[in-house]
Amino acid sequence: MTDILAVADHRRGELRDVSYEIITAGRELADETGGELHLAIISGTVDDFAEKANREGVDVIHTVSYGEEFNHDVYTQAITQLYDEVGPQYVLAPNSVNGLDYAPAVADELELPIVTDTVGLETDGETLIANREMYGGKVETTVEIDSNSAVVTIRSAEWPVAEGTGDAAVEVFDADIDEDAIGSSVNGFEEVAGGDVDISEADVLVSVGRGIEEEENLEIVRELADALDATLSSSRPIVDNGWLPKNRQVGQSGKVVTPDVYIAIGISGAVQHVAGMKGSDTIVAINTDENAPIMDIADYAIYDDLFDVVPALTEQFR
Ligand code: FAD
Repeated sequence: MTDILAVADHRRGELRDVSYEIITAGRELADETGGELHLAIISGTVDDFAEKANREGVDVIHTVSYGEEFNHDVYTQAITQLYDEVGPQYVLAPNSVNGLDYAPAVADELELPIVTDTVGLETDGETLIANREMYGGKVETTVEIDSNSAVVTIRSAEWPVAEGTGDAAVEVFDADIDEDAIGSSVNGFEEVAGGDVDISEADVLVSVGRGIEEEENLEIVRELADALDATLSSSRPIVDNGWLPKNRQVGQSGKVVTPDVYIAIGISGAVQHVAGMKGSDTIVAINTDENAPIMDIADYAIYDDLFDVVPALTEQFR
């Protein structure tokens, strides 16, 4: 019992980034246990997803064709049956809305311990050591699981996405789904206001915080975003003030983003904000307080007044 069974995540026909991150997390664990990495792809266009997820590090991909979108009962049944088939040591699921829906049910069904929202994993083959953050990232905890098998959910943007084309065997798994046990269905998706933009998919984010002072001042930040062909996002106070819709909020109670470039304008870098953007490739911070926490994690820290710097940058980029 040394294999790892990871589960991919998708929504509305797209594999989510965490599906590639879970490959990296799973591969690392499999190297430690000396086992194989199995990836489960359930529902949707499984062949297309299998092709995309066939990246370096995956040994076997199991596809389960049943329905289009996520369904709690289908996933729970398919994963528990795959568990019996593969006999993995650990089951990895994303700590996404979907993952948090089925992972506890899978653990309950298989009578396994579960640890959620992990940001680091290590095993000596017997004990699993999982790192988690608590109290909004203020406390880091270590959880030891002595059981020889467990279900684990991983936080997005904590592991790099797996790259490179793999040569995994793709196997169709004929799950025996009990239709009578399916008690829920996805009837459609309703976008929240301003839902045209998904900040978690943006390459460049221009993010604004309380340092902007007034709603009308947002215009200078919008102009910079336009000049850079970037997407506008923000810290929580901007959303709480009603100046931008909730789907623009980066952070613990907003979205986790991993852009190539993240420009934090008048944002202090509270732990709850950083939890959502620390996976950005390059962080630029503009702040009048050189001791603001964001300045410590910034690759480029501009210690100056945003009302001078932002228009000057816009001018340059135009
Ligand atoms: P501030 O902390 O007030 O920082 C403003 C910054 O602007 C300061 O660093 C200041 O030096 C700088 N500044 C001021 N004037 C200028 C100027 N002229 N030029 C340049 N710089 C200037 N926050 C989030 O962002 N996302 C979340 O998801 C989130 N979730 C939370 C969940 C919980 C449970 C809790 C308790 C809090 C959460 N928060 C979240 C709130 C978080 O704790 C902070 O309060 C918030 O991130 C602060 O936002 P800010 O950096 O914009 O504002």
